[in-house]
Amino acid sequence: MGEFDAIATLFAPLSRGAPGAFGLTDDAALLTAPGDLIVTADALVAGVHFLPDDPLDSVGWKLVAVNVSDLTAKGAAPVGAVLTLCWPHGRPLADAAGFAKGLGDALDRLAGGCPLIGGDTTGTPGPLTVSLTLFGAPLGPAMVRRAGAAPGDVVAVTGVIGDGGLGLAAARGDDVFPDIDRAVLAEAYRRPQPPGFLAGAIGAHASAALDVSDGLIADLGHLARASGVAVWLDLEALPLSPAAARWLAGQPDRTAGLMRLATAGDDYQTAMAVSPARWPALAAAAEAAGVRLTVIGRCADGTGVEAIGPDGAPVAIDVGGWRHF
Ligand code: ADP
Ligand code: MG
Repeated sequence: MGEFDAIATLFAPLSRGAPGAFGLTDDAALLTAPGDLIVTADALVAGVHFLPDDPLDSVGWKLVAVNVSDLTAKGAAPVGAVLTLCWPHGRPLADAAGFAKGLGDALDRLAGGCPLIGGDTTGTPGPLTVSLTLFGAPLGPAMVRRAGAAPGDVVAVTGVIGDGGLGLAAARGDDVFPDIDRAVLAEAYRRPQPPGFLAGAIGAHASAALDVSDGLIADLGHLARASGVAVWLDLEALPLSPAAARWLAGQPDRTAGLMRLATAGDDYQTAMAVSPARWPALAAAAEAAGVRLTVIGRCADGTGVEAIGPDGAPVAIDVGGWRHF
C-alpha cells in the first residue's frame, strides 16, 4: 500500500463527508466557524508516549483522547482534526489500518464524530510518530483558562486519578497486580477516556480548568500559578478506580501511595475550579452526563499546592510531575 492508497482507503472515510475536507483530495481543508476556534496539538512518539508494542488501534485512540482532553478542559467541542503521520521506513503502510480504526473509533466516541479534515503522511527513519491538531468551538461564553480561579472556589476533578500511571507500570510489568487489575489498568493507560460530555458544563460554569496529563499535583500547580491562588488538595478525596483502591490498600505507606497516584500522570481528566455558587449546577450537569466529578480541594489565598495527607497533616511535595527535558 502506498501513501495515496493509505490516504484514500484508511483516512478519507474518517472525513465523514465533511464538506471542507473534500474527501482528502485537495491541498488543504476549509473550516467554517461561526466564531472563535480553540486549537490544540499533541504528538505521540513510540517509546515515549506509548509502548512500542502497544496495539496500533490503541495508539490511534490515544492520539484523539489526549487532544480531546485539552479541548474538554477549555470547554470546547471538537469540530475538525488534522493528522500528521510519520511512518517508520520498512514497516508496511497497510499496518496503519489498525491505527486508522482506533483513530476513527475515538473520533466517534470521544469527539462526537468530529471529521478528519486533512493531514500529512511521511516516512521516517525514526520511531512511529503521530500528531493530531484538533480545532474546537467554545460551548460556553469563552475559552476556559487556567487563570480565573478565586480563593474560596471548589476544586474538582473528573473521572479517576492514578489509573494511567499504574497502567503504565502494569503494562511494563514494573509492579505486581492481580491479573484482573493488571488488564484493566493497562487498558486505562492505552485508552484514556477524557470527559468530553462535560465540556459544555465546564464552559458554562468553571472559573478555571486544565487537562490533567502530567500528574494531578503538577497540573494543579499550573492552575494555582496562572490564577494567583493556592490550591489545597485533600489526598484522601482522590477519586480512585476499584483497581487503584486495591493497589493502594496493599501499600505499606498510604501517604506515599496516594502521592504516587497524585503525581503519576497519563490521567487525561479535567481539573477545575468552580465558585461555590456555580458548583450545584456543575455537579448536576456531571450527574446528567454520567461523568464522575469529585471535589478534591479548595482554592485559598496564597501560592502553590498544599497536599493534605490521611492524618490531616500537610505532605511535602517533591515531585513536580512529568517533564520531557
Ligand atoms: P500536499 O502535499 O499537497 O499537502 P498530500 O499529497 O500530502 O498533499 O495530501 C493529499 C491530501 O490528503 C490532503 O488533503 C491532505 O490533507 C490529506 N492527507 C495526507 N495525509 C493525511 C493523513 N495522514 N491524514 C489525513 N489526511 C491526510
Ligand atoms: Mg503533503
